[in-house]
Amino acid sequence: MTIALQQKPIDILQKIFGYKSFRGQQAEIIEHIINGKDALILMPTGGGKSLCYQIPALCLEGIVVVISPLIALMQDQVDALKQLGIKASALNSSLSSGEASSVEELMLSGKLDIVYVSPERLNTERFLDLLTRCRLTLFAIDEAHCVSQWGHDFRPEYTEFSKLKEKFPDIPRIALTATADDLTRQDIIKNLRLENGKVFSSSFDRPNIRYLVTPKDNEKKQLLNFIETEHKGDSGIVYCISRNKVEQIAEWLKKQGYNALPYHAGLNNKIRQKNQDYFIKNDGVIMVATIAFGMGIDKPDVRFVAHMDLPKSIESYYQETGRAGRDGLPSNAWMVYGTEDIVKLRQFIYSSNANTEHKRIEHQKLDSLIGFAETMKCRRRVLLEYFGEKTENKPCNNCDTCLEPVTGFDATVAIQKALSCIYRTGQRFGAAHIIDILMGKENEKIKGFNHNKLSTFGIGQEYSKFQWKSIFRQIIAVGFVNVDMEDYGALKLTPDSNKILRGQEKIFLRNETIKEKSSKTKRTEPNKRSSFSAPAAEDLFQKLRALRLSLAKGQNVPPYVIFHDSALIDMIIAMPKNLSELGKISGVGQSKLERYGEEFLKAIKEHLYTNH
Ligand code: ADP
Ligand code: ZN
Repeated sequence: MTIALQQKPIDILQKIFGYKSFRGQQAEIIEHIINGKDALILMPTGGGKSLCYQIPALCLEGIVVVISPLIALMQDQVDALKQLGIKASALNSSLSSGEASSVEELMLSGKLDIVYVSPERLNTERFLDLLTRCRLTLFAIDEAHCVSQWGHDFRPEYTEFSKLKEKFPDIPRIALTATADDLTRQDIIKNLRLENGKVFSSSFDRPNIRYLVTPKDNEKKQLLNFIETEHKGDSGIVYCISRNKVEQIAEWLKKQGYNALPYHAGLNNKIRQKNQDYFIKNDGVIMVATIAFGMGIDKPDVRFVAHMDLPKSIESYYQETGRAGRDGLPSNAWMVYGTEDIVKLRQFIYSSNANTEHKRIEHQKLDSLIGFAETMKCRRRVLLEYFGEKTENKPCNNCDTCLEPVTGFDATVAIQKALSCIYRTGQRFGAAHIIDILMGKENEKIKGFNHNKLSTFGIGQEYSKFQWKSIFRQIIAVGFVNVDMEDYGALKLTPDSNKILRGQEKIFLRNETIKEKSSKTKRTEPNKRSSFSAPAAEDLFQKLRALRLSLAKGQNVPPYVIFHDSALIDMIIAMPKNLSELGKISGVGQSKLERYGEEFLKAIKEHLYTNH
């Protein structure tokens, strides 16, 4: 299909992409680019950054050069654009020299709208020279935070892009990233020479993601319960802290009948690649992984991200959970955590080789994350405020603390009992033993140390073990007691402990028992992808998914480049009878309508016959 040039952006959006209207600042950004101006575009994951350069590529004559650091991602983008009938190619080290030359031919003869290149290639004299002989429209530098030494994905090749301004003074340049912090932003502007560009910055909120954080209490059972009630048949990622745990949880989920795969740096490259490919190209796969997994995963229909352990900072948490719900449909970010997580992470920091200053920063970052986990406030607000965004003082109604508000309880006396017990046992024991003493357990260890003779033995029977664990987790989290790494994790009193023992302060903690009970009687509606209450509708959804999968397999592309889940869901709601009705559905553009329209209509018709 030939793309008509000089079309209006809105017409391209509707005809080629099949979307009704622009989102957020897209229209404004596109107009700015078409007018030949530079820009820095800050938008959260899933915000719709790619359209900002893809649409100008179709409006203007010439090639848009997109610089992207991840080869796997380039290929996905090119596959998705080809499905739309757009002339796109990628140039990177995965091509043979013959393949690369034919892409270069296309560039020279003006037969490409978009070319994706790796940073390494862009920096070669040979390629820059080739570019001078092409008709260029725009340079789009994706994942622009890679230019910053302070960020997480620093790529030295990015620092060389400043020369684009000198070599191609008339070609506009835009930088795009989902990393918001101010230091990175300044680095991008300085190193990419975007001083004259406009900064487009949108809120980093991900309204379709529901944040859920729960204390650990049999984590496997909790995970299973979560997946069974909210995510049967969905794609998801389960993050674990260690390779060992990844293997265990993946194996266990498989035994429970789920299509789960492991991913961690200890697996050989081939297996990792294979598992990743399987996850991307199939529906309903659960990837159990360490943080080695996720970079460059653009799968839009990841319905949940589960954390079995605490990440090391809010930045990591936000990046990892951000992989859920790129397509804008309801998704869950679910996490369980307990005292042992806090202890383990403190231990990591303590025993690392970093210098004191670095360790101090890492402890601070961990503290912020623990603060987020322990908060009684709206979680979304805590996250956004951490990134420096101003928020309105009202509940988001899409996080656990908004949906099931946590009450505080006056825990002063309970904490005093815990602290005296730590004191009386010589500050040499961990939380589990202290809890046993408080609850008056006559086990071997207690008898062996004569701890059943202590005045604090059995003074805490008004609380359950679950409650005591919750109290200890919280007092460790806020620093009323320290976990001493040099003494095998023994609990030690701190200056704060003394204030509480002397009764100078009233302390309120999260009352997790009330929450535990109320969640049994008053369960919040699960946050499902699509709650088709009618079984027939769910059945049709599965049929359309199967059709999509077989079409995708035939071309060796991910199913979502054919249609997103949201388009399938809209088909079920609208039940189109002909091509023109089908074409009205969001995500069904001209090219997809021509290629797949008849087959999807047929599936819908057949379904109607069998259900009448
Ligand atoms: P980002 O690169 O910012 O993470 P993408 O550009 O991949 O996000 O867009 C996320 C998803 O939203 C994509 O599937 C894209 O097709 C879709 N999308 C983008 N803009 C619109 C729009 N105006 N209307 C509907 N869907 C859109
Ligand atoms: Zn909230």
